[in-house]
Amino acid sequence: MSNNDFQVLLYYKYVPIKDAEQFAKDELQFCKSIGLKGRILISEEGINGTVSGPVEVTKRYMDHMHAMPEFSDLWFKINEADDYAHKKMFVRYRKEIVSLNLEDDLNPNELTGTHLDPADFREAMLDEDVVLLDTRNDYEYDLGHFKGAIRPDIRNFRELPEWVRENKEKFMDKKVLVYCTGGVRCEKFSGWMIREGIENVSQLNGGIENYGQDDETRGDLWEGKMYVFDERISVPINRVDPSIVGKDYFDGSPCERYVNCGNPECNKQILASEENQEKYLGGCTHDCRVHPRNRYVQAKGWSHDEIEARLAAIGEKYEIEAK
Ligand SMILES: [Zn+2]
Repeated sequence: MSNNDFQVLLYYKYVPIKDAEQFAKDELQFCKSIGLKGRILISEEGINGTVSGPVEVTKRYMDHMHAMPEFSDLWFKINEADDYAHKKMFVRYRKEIVSLNLEDDLNPNELTGTHLDPADFREAMLDEDVVLLDTRNDYEYDLGHFKGAIRPDIRNFRELPEWVRENKEKFMDKKVLVYCTGGVRCEKFSGWMIREGIENVSQLNGGIENYGQDDETRGDLWEGKMYVFDERISVPINRVDPSIVGKDYFDGSPCERYVNCGNPECNKQILASEENQEKYLGGCTHDCRVHPRNRYVQAKGWSHDEIEARLAAIGEKYEIEAK
């Protein structure tokens, strides 16, 4: 049972903001005062946020934003929820609203890929000659993605330009389609691709979030779930023929449960069942399993003998790699 008295909002806009640092402070104060939670990034280039709260609170927030001339057309993607999706309220001032760290920054209002609405994007994906690129991080892709999309081998979005340069032959002189969660990453990234000489680039307008809510596509051609950066971790997208594509890191069985590696220095996000997480001592490698600060082992309070016995059960000995 869910009562859907809450909403999660996802939104962004590239628009010049004067005195962005002060604006971020004022916004934090306002959001806290109305009981909103979430994470908002503000920079001179615009705003990028995901927030949650009871319906009357999210409505108040949207009214507040729409009352400002530069945000009067701000597009909020709304998801029903039965609780807050965030623990706290953060409003941060940043150099960029997405961390792409380009040596030569780019304004998506001046250069960006063609926006395609969900139905047109679906149509384009079905074209044989098209190259479909997922611009998100590897762990986001692994939980779910569009059928046939390329998975760039990156752990962070800012590594994507370098990866594309190294794999340029895949994209040059091709029809390229890019997509991301809500669209904010693709705005800048598709512009960057065009500047690199990849001329024919289109982006999914409103991202996967908008595609999943669209009544015509109903999330068709999406496999698995969509990773989200909040307490929900994943949300369904495909309402036509939902499937599971996530695989357990340890045994490859179908899995949609995300955990972080217990080694705080690694912290890698992996999909793992509760059983396998315990079996492998919460670590993604042997070194992570026997790491002296392994949080999973610490929380379990296992003795040294118990750890040795558990390692023996998976064919490993207590060895810490000499550095
Ligand atoms: Zn690890």
